[in-house]
Amino acid sequence: MEVEVKLRIPDADSHQRLASLLSPFHLQTHLQENVFFDGARGELSSSRSVLRLRFYNADSRCVVSLKGKAVIVDGVSRVEEVEEDFDVSLGRACVAEPWRLAAVDSGLVKRVVDEFRVEGFVCLGGFRNVRAVHAWQGLTLELDETQFDFGTSYEIECESDDPESAKRLLEGFLKENRIPYSFSAVSKFAVFRSGKLPD
Ligand code: MN
Ligand code: MN
Ligand code: MN
Repeated sequence: MEVEVKLRIPDADSHQRLASLLSPFHLQTHLQENVFFDGARGELSSSRSVLRLRFYNADSRCVVSLKGKAVIVDGVSRVEEVEEDFDVSLGRACVAEPWRLAAVDSGLVKRVVDEFRVEGFVCLGGFRNVRAVHAWQGLTLELDETQFDFGTSYEIECESDDPESAKRLLEGFLKENRIPYSFSAVSKFAVFRSGKLPD
């Protein structure tokens, strides 16, 4: 189970100010390209699951993830998640020709094929995310700039076993510095699928 605090930052200006405030704590920034897959008959989406290939910094790394049954309440997201490293050039080949995915040598993908009785995969497309990672107050903060075809959104995320405390700390910091925010109500994937930025 992945548990994360997710707070939405409303605009580029607030995102920029937050990035400056966090710059002393900055560790690294990576460019992620996220591409999503479903079974050809909607086998994954009908179980509220999705398969993702994520490419890091052009093609330096690729990770396959299965995410399922996401629930987000008051800015705290809980999602079943399994991840595995994936061969980068094979990942690119599967994006170009999604039918290849069903035959790849990946424990996770095989499990998906069995569990969801997938006969073939389709690619749903995806989006890019610029993620700036920070070590702050014992937390790992991920400041995201997400580039959808229909616009850009901003979010700060923090994975934690104690999300309520992390949220309190983070909200205190944002309020103190007059950075506007709201609780994210949906995942980036759900925003992508909806085809428009949240209100
Ligand atoms: Mn994760
Ligand atoms: Mn996340
Ligand atoms: Mn995460």
